[in-house]
Amino acid sequence: MSPAPLRILVCGGAGYIGSHMAKWLAAHGAEPVVLDNLSTGHREAVRFGPLVEADLLDPASLDAAFARGPFDAVMHFCARSLVGESVQLPYDYYGNNVVGTLNLLRAMQRHGVDRLVFSSTAAVFGEPVSERIDESHPKAPINPYGASKLMVERILADAAAAYGLRSVTLRYFNAAGASADGDIGEAHTPETHLIPNVLRAALGDGSRLKVFGDDWPTPDGTCVRDYIHVDDLAQAHWQALAYMDAHAGAHAFNLGNGRGFSVREVIAAAQAVGGREVPFDIAPRRAGDPAVLVASSALARSELGWTPRYPALPEIIETAWRWHCDPKF
Ligand code: UDP
Repeated sequence: MSPAPLRILVCGGAGYIGSHMAKWLAAHGAEPVVLDNLSTGHREAVRFGPLVEADLLDPASLDAAFARGPFDAVMHFCARSLVGESVQLPYDYYGNNVVGTLNLLRAMQRHGVDRLVFSSTAAVFGEPVSERIDESHPKAPINPYGASKLMVERILADAAAAYGLRSVTLRYFNAAGASADGDIGEAHTPETHLIPNVLRAALGDGSRLKVFGDDWPTPDGTCVRDYIHVDDLAQAHWQALAYMDAHAGAHAFNLGNGRGFSVREVIAAAQAVGGREVPFDIAPRRAGDPAVLVASSALARSELGWTPRYPALPEIIETAWRWHCDPKF
């Protein structure tokens, strides 16, 4: 008899990364159940398992969601995640990201679920002190978003010691791209992320890209980021489930391709992929942005067995381009 499929509660599964995760789980024989409050996610993105509408700030709704279990693990993608906005709205960020996660952890405890894969961020590190950021890099966030995620990382370490919670924290650098078959992709309103904004401007939606600063201490003066395909993030979450079988405690891995691209380089790559000009203007720097963020993911490769399938920026942008040419929601 084959083992029962893994049942995973995907919190935030109607959102960009969570929906790609749900797709990955279903494609690998697991059963995702999506928990989402649809505040920023899309009902149309929930195609790979049932949707339970619940809110992390409403514990009773979490109990109703966990009643759909039992679940083997929780994957937690629900968060406010915009650096600039977090500087303006710190109460919202600490409330959603810290209080909301505490509510989720308590609900997991009440319902006997002891495994969590947690979405964290490069923003926990602040300004880099080394060329590539590995897990031992000092953690000194420079915006409320990064600080809120670092607080949860600390809670997970304490929960491992006190309650035996098993967790893997995955610190994404810049998530990008879309599903290769074009059925789901990145759709935020308003859109603040670089690659979608570049592609929309290229597609001639009437917008001009704003480049936030060209006086950064980088080779061309624009900010440098490490772009990682959303399906490569999903792959790491899948591997994290197996990792937690073999490893108790709280663990964290950085996920990126280990190569930085400036905003100007992203614009050039997008122009090459799409064959269209990207109209842009130089705008003031955005609050909370560090100049450079590039990952070392050696630990994820060696410990999780993670190998990104989209190591090159043009291939990542190509999948995003296909989505933006024909978005389904
Ligand atoms: N950026 C930009 N114009 C935009 C959106 C982003 O110049 O319309 C810059 C932003 O300042 C940062 C980089 O592109 O340096 C990546 O920003 P994004 O919001 O995509 O991700 P973040 O690094 O904030 O997670």
